[in-house]
Amino acid sequence: MTLVFATNNLHKLEEVRKIVRKDFHILSLSDIHCQEEISETANTLEGNALIKARYIKEHYGYDCFADDTGLEVEALNNAPGVYSARYAGEERSAEANMKKLLAELKDEKNRNARFRTVIALILNGKELLFEGIVKGKITEEKKGTSGFGYDPIFVPEGYTVTFAEMGNDIKNTISHRAEAVKKLDEYLTGKFL
Ligand code: IMP
Repeated sequence: MTLVFATNNLHKLEEVRKIVRKDFHILSLSDIHCQEEISETANTLEGNALIKARYIKEHYGYDCFADDTGLEVEALNNAPGVYSARYAGEERSAEANMKKLLAELKDEKNRNARFRTVIALILNGKELLFEGIVKGKITEEKKGTSGFGYDPIFVPEGYTVTFAEMGNDIKNTISHRAEAVKKLDEYLTGKFL
């Protein structure tokens, strides 16, 4: 069974290949020679994940899945959410994004936040969505060096260190993306085995 994962992010690809059963052959965008930038123009994570998955199905014919993730901060009405990558501007700088978020939360007592990943799957003419959530808190300052994005300022519930301090091995077992991918894997397993 072949499925395209609409990404060129090798780190994500490796993470997904580790979780999804080995008898599913997961191809990346470069494996199918898709070089175009698929524009994510929706204003929800669900919408963007569907845009990417539908694009691949329409233009390349493959059954596929695509993901989109956002950091939702309670005191900011769930911002930056779907705009997490470009919160501080089009250059998509993680440093600038964290700086802006910490400034917005200056003197704010409510530090509650959550990462939310949505995976859209197109399979045998059906569209399905899978969601993964990790609740936590935004720190007062950056801590740790591993990971990417907002990892240095996010402490997941049940832990005292940030995603960037705990390292990828632990993060990848508890992350929002891992939870969504596990749900995808359970669905595929139930469907085909
Ligand atoms: P994407 O949909 O996976 O590209 O994620 C969009 C943006 O959300 C990224 O550019 C990061 O800023 C942020 N993000 C997504 N996943 C994570 C994560 O696991 N840790 C920290 N930031 C993340």
